[in-house]
Amino acid sequence: MDIGKRIEQGKLLSSLSTIGIGGKARYFIEISSPQEAQDLMRFVAKEQLPFWVVGKGSNTLFDDRGFDGLIIHNKIETLSENQGVFDVGAGYNFSLLGVQTARKGWGGLEFASGIPGTVGGAVFMNAGASKQQTADSLLSVSYVDESGKLLEIKNRDCDFGYRTSCFHQMKGIIVGARFELKKSESARQHQIDIVKYRSRTQPYGEKSAGCAFQNTEEMSTGQLIEKCGLKGEKIGEAEVSTLHANFIVNKGKASASDVKELIEVVKNQIHKQTGKNLQLEMRLAPYRLGE
Ligand SMILES: Cc1cc2nc3c(=O)[nH]c(=O)nc-3n(C[C@H](O)[C@H](O)[C@H](O)COP(=O)(O)OP(=O)(O)OC[C@H]3O[C@@H](n4cnc5c(N)ncnc54)[C@H](O)[C@@H]3O)c2cc1C
Repeated sequence: MDIGKRIEQGKLLSSLSTIGIGGKARYFIEISSPQEAQDLMRFVAKEQLPFWVVGKGSNTLFDDRGFDGLIIHNKIETLSENQGVFDVGAGYNFSLLGVQTARKGWGGLEFASGIPGTVGGAVFMNAGASKQQTADSLLSVSYVDESGKLLEIKNRDCDFGYRTSCFHQMKGIIVGARFELKKSESARQHQIDIVKYRSRTQPYGEKSAGCAFQNTEEMSTGQLIEKCGLKGEKIGEAEVSTLHANFIVNKGKASASDVKELIEVVKNQIHKQTGKNLQLEMRLAPYRLGE
């Protein structure tokens, strides 16, 4: 079927993000294979459609007005293994991958358990925790560029840094990742310890988009925000979490404007009190690209 015919209209973006915020997308499509990603990129180029890719939306704040273009929901959920080398579709649940591999005695992705994103989102963000990050055990990334070409990008060419990668500067879709994991008898126990710590210190039962800001060098940003007395600060129904101050939680019907206003309040207060400039970790999807 012609890929353009599968495009829907008016999908509510709040249902595609863990913070539960966002208006409607003008256009929406789900893709479930690299071939569909290639067909879609060719269609999008021909129609000159602006687009935004979403995995589980666990680091994304959509705009209250929605998105004036095509939202591409990545549901490429394949998984295969050969002697510690895992080929994983970019829509695969990253937390599940971490649990499945650690249970089988493979180390490298223990930290993924509890990170509520996709493999594609984890690669894009170079997600990490407990001194591990996605890039550490990644061999390469399968990527469909804006012309529809399927590329294999090696780890060393991904320009990974703290919560960043070359994909922030590129227009296309991560369709898969290849990880090489190491045998580890302690992987599952290590993971259980990480999960216990995480569930004590992060607001898991609440709606959020993960850490709002990147960590600073000397101190975690959560501690810094707490030290500046901003825990529990509220705009509308958006609140600086009282459990972990680097999370902004949606207490009910918070809007994206509430969250953005609260982000500014926190940034300004931190700057005023410490001279530091916080950098956003959360991804802000604009209503229109370039806004
Ligand atoms: C309770 C909670 C705990 C969290 N804990 C952690 C943690 O410990 N460590 C950590 O690093 N993060 C954490 N996060 C943040 C988040 O889960 C990670 O950043 C995750 O990797 C994002 O994946 P996602 O699929 O949800 O990405 P999304 O939010 O859907 O997307 C994030 C960005 O990646 C882009 N993107 C996503 N998929 C693709 C793709 N296939 N191709 C191209 N671009 C793509 C999007 O356009 C967007 O810019 C947490 C979030 C929550 C809600």
